[in-house]
Amino acid sequence: MSAHRPGALLPVCLLLTLLLSAAHWWRAGQAGVALACLLWWSASLRRAAWMRPLTALLLLLLAAEWFLTADQFIQLRQMRHQPWLRLALILTATAAVTLLTALLVWGSRGRRWFSRHAESAGAQALCFLLVTALLLPLLVLSPRTLLLERFFPGLGPLQIVCAALWGAWLCRRLSDRQTAPVIRRRVWLLFSLVFFAQFALGLAGQSAFSMSGEPHIPVPGVIIGGALYRGQPGFMVALFTLSVLTAGAAWCSHLCYFGSWDQLAASRTRPTPHPHPFRLRSLSLLATCACALLLRACGAPSAPAVAGGLLLGISLVPAALLFSRRRGYAVYCTMICPLGILACLLGRLSPWRVRRTSTCVQCGACLRACRYGALDRLREGREPGPSCVLCRDCLSACAHNGLCLRWAGKGGNGLAERAFVVIVSALHAVFLFTAMA
Ligand code: SF4
Ligand code: SF4
Ligand code: SF4
Repeated sequence: MSAHRPGALLPVCLLLTLLLSAAHWWRAGQAGVALACLLWWSASLRRAAWMRPLTALLLLLLAAEWFLTADQFIQLRQMRHQPWLRLALILTATAAVTLLTALLVWGSRGRRWFSRHAESAGAQALCFLLVTALLLPLLVLSPRTLLLERFFPGLGPLQIVCAALWGAWLCRRLSDRQTAPVIRRRVWLLFSLVFFAQFALGLAGQSAFSMSGEPHIPVPGVIIGGALYRGQPGFMVALFTLSVLTAGAAWCSHLCYFGSWDQLAASRTRPTPHPHPFRLRSLSLLATCACALLLRACGAPSAPAVAGGLLLGISLVPAALLFSRRRGYAVYCTMICPLGILACLLGRLSPWRVRRTSTCVQCGACLRACRYGALDRLREGREPGPSCVLCRDCLSACAHNGLCLRWAGKGGNGLAERAFVVIVSALHAVFLFTAMA
């Protein structure tokens, strides 16, 4: 065997230990954890470098679980005056094998096996942990939010591992500026499809597919209008605010179930200069707030108010998509949607900014990538405008590294962009795997 080839020992040992653990969890009635162990082994065959420390950690935890289980069984058998030595030996040996596999993973053999995509390993591991940390409390406090748990109680842990693996994969693809634009558009569209599929099923009477049993209105402007009409913020306002504070206006380039269609329509045409990416939206925001407050003051019943918001929001979509296709920029997002302007304004509180660097040679390639009116001939040579939604398409389009994503007020050293990608990938994974219309 060549010194550089990883060999089959590690995957075989890993399979053995994870199979034993899966059997243990299955027997304990934790089918979700058991299947997650097997999923982890399958994922390890991709040999991604980010999995090495987490696999070693996982095996350490599983070894600890074996020791605890051994202790519990020994005590139980001793209390019942039953023979316990053979059982103790088997369980301790299993714990020792798990521990040895952890050492194998951590050592040079593990380094050779988990060697792919080492450049993004830290960001991917962080993203995996972030998704897990965001979803675990949901599993405890509101398991119904997890799609699998809703239909197959007990499989929540499996869904969390699926979501975290997805987040880690996405983090790598979004970290690569070459693949980022295409991947962003595809996964954004995927989220939208999942969201609207659930919405349609909710409308068809499948209440398990809708939040709190009733479909909510899938028009972004209604998030703000509805909150003002009700006089209380609600779940969607909290979700929007938290997302925008952590990922800035990236809500409008990675997370919103509506915007993906507008970007898709716009992306077919070369963008024309945007007349004013804020003026119409400001009016739209004012009109939305005024209508909601007026309806509330008049004590208007909720059904006509909801129907009005829904009709207005949806009736503008076909025309906007048509214009997006003609103009080459996202017309619904940059001229109509009142929530988008809030995302841009509130997003200024987040630390992320796209800025020009000294290597910009004014070639103009980035102007053709922006679909949000933040870069066009009117702004040539200047910083992106306030309608920037942090899609980073302009960064990918630039062959001179003339743009960077950096912390507000600080220089860009690549760390800011990596941190941004970790956060948006994690948020996307959480949104996708908990999407409920
Ligand atoms: S501008 Fe509105 S529709 Fe467009 S992505 Fe943002 S919130 Fe969604
Ligand atoms: S930032 Fe890059 S793509 Fe844009 S004008 Fe400068 S060099 Fe050209
Ligand atoms: S300036 Fe760049 S990052 Fe901002 S919206 Fe335009 S293309 Fe996207």
